[in-house]
Amino acid sequence: MTLETDVAIIGSGYSAVALALNLVDLLPPAARVSLVGRAAGQGRGIAYATRAECHLLNVPAGRMSLFADRPNHFLAWLAGQGFPWSADDFVPRRIYGSYVRDCLDEAMKRTGNRAALTLVDAEALGAEAGQDGGLVFALSGGGRLSARVSALCTGAGTRRLPLPEDAVPSAARAFVVEDPWADAWWERLPADADVLFVGTGLTTIDQMLLLRRRGFRGTMHALSRHGLLPQPHLARRADPVETVLVPGEGEVSAMLATLRRQAAAAPDWRAVMDGLRPVTQDLWKGWSASQRGRFLRHVAAFWNVHRHRMAPAVAEEIAALRRSGQLVVHRGRLEALRLADGGLAAVLRDGRTLATRLVVNCTGLDRCTVAASPLLASLAGRGLVQPDPHGLGIRVDDRAAVLAGEGVGRARLYALGPLTAGHFFEITAVPDIRVQARAVAASIHAEIAAGGRKAWMS
Ligand SMILES: Cc1cc2nc3c(=O)[nH]c(=O)nc-3n(C[C@H](O)[C@H](O)[C@H](O)COP(=O)(O)OP(=O)(O)OC[C@H]3O[C@@H](n4cnc5c(N)ncnc54)[C@H](O)[C@@H]3O)c2cc1C
Repeated sequence: MTLETDVAIIGSGYSAVALALNLVDLLPPAARVSLVGRAAGQGRGIAYATRAECHLLNVPAGRMSLFADRPNHFLAWLAGQGFPWSADDFVPRRIYGSYVRDCLDEAMKRTGNRAALTLVDAEALGAEAGQDGGLVFALSGGGRLSARVSALCTGAGTRRLPLPEDAVPSAARAFVVEDPWADAWWERLPADADVLFVGTGLTTIDQMLLLRRRGFRGTMHALSRHGLLPQPHLARRADPVETVLVPGEGEVSAMLATLRRQAAAAPDWRAVMDGLRPVTQDLWKGWSASQRGRFLRHVAAFWNVHRHRMAPAVAEEIAALRRSGQLVVHRGRLEALRLADGGLAAVLRDGRTLATRLVVNCTGLDRCTVAASPLLASLAGRGLVQPDPHGLGIRVDDRAAVLAGEGVGRARLYALGPLTAGHFFEITAVPDIRVQARAVAASIHAEIAAGGRKAWMS
């Protein structure tokens, strides 16, 4: 059976909900918006599905409203629910997920002049061109959804452990956790065994906090190329310092030198990083492909730990783990895994080996590849999307409209969130995505209005 809709939003995490909420307010009441995603994750995505109280937002509550034009919306929701948190607090992500879900439920009520929003409990497995730039999606369960305009909000997905197949004997796979969000992997880890996290970013931090809550006594090893952990937020955010960097002017290395000088002169370097926010996307857009490549190779690891920081309470816990010796951070590259003594020996490129019961892949969600998603692979196979040359999602223009391959007509297709990192770079956090969601909703509104009103006027 083929369902018909005016707008199909594929994915059900934060980006999808933020777009849906803007659309139901902008589109006329007779318009139909369908949000396609697995029911269990609707409104939460990967980031806000956690039930663990120790998993805190890494952005203060005052900056986490779903709506760019209503900055206090989340704070008002917290107060309305009787929660004690205020603007500078780092709220459990579970609570934020409830906020997003609540707003989604509210948007489905057909009140006032709102367009109709329907949740479709399915995965979009593939898509082909329909009429007038529309798309027809093949859904799990066998149904199809035909849409006049579509938006991909499928998130970053997870990367596999960065090792060739032959570097991991098949029997060793049983000791590898490829996706730490997918199952309760820690139940397979004895309380006094050792564990190795590959990656030292926020995903690793989350997993370590969970182990600690469960009374884990073994050693936690964390490994990454630079061995850098995320930096802590200040307990009270300093006012951002206006940046001196000008998009399109200067080499990457010169810009960094300027940034360092500005940080050294500022009361706190975080104020300089925060001052970059309004121009970060334009700085990235102003670089050539080779400059972007150099930034990703040499700077991105340092950038990420300064830009995506830990809540102060979390940072204190991690520092205590390091001081006690229970957490050991290693700088290096994983080269192979071997079976050893009821667990694994992790072999590093410099010849060191680390004994561990489990290896947990926390290499991140920051890069999304077309190959990792059947839907994106299907669209790419038809030339309807093109992979970003740096592996940062798919190619889009300034309006987040998806760029088709040469000789292929553009579908009425947009993309949001981490999927558009190739063009916008910093487009993973709520304060960035909510602005994009608003702008894409306005583009979709204009596109549908220009394309004729007959679908909802007839
Ligand atoms: C652990 C973690 C913590 C974070 N904490 C913060 C924070 O504190 N503050 C902040 O500002 N940002 C935070 N972020 C960043 C940010 O909020 C997320 O990147 C953002 O939620 C991205 O949302 P998304 O909807 O684009 O992707 P996702 O959350 O990944 O959601 C995509 C959804 O689409 C579904 N999907 C994928 N493909 C299909 C398909 N073909 N058909 C149907 N459904 C599909 C997936 O199953 C998934 O549920 C965090 C991110 C992570 C990963």
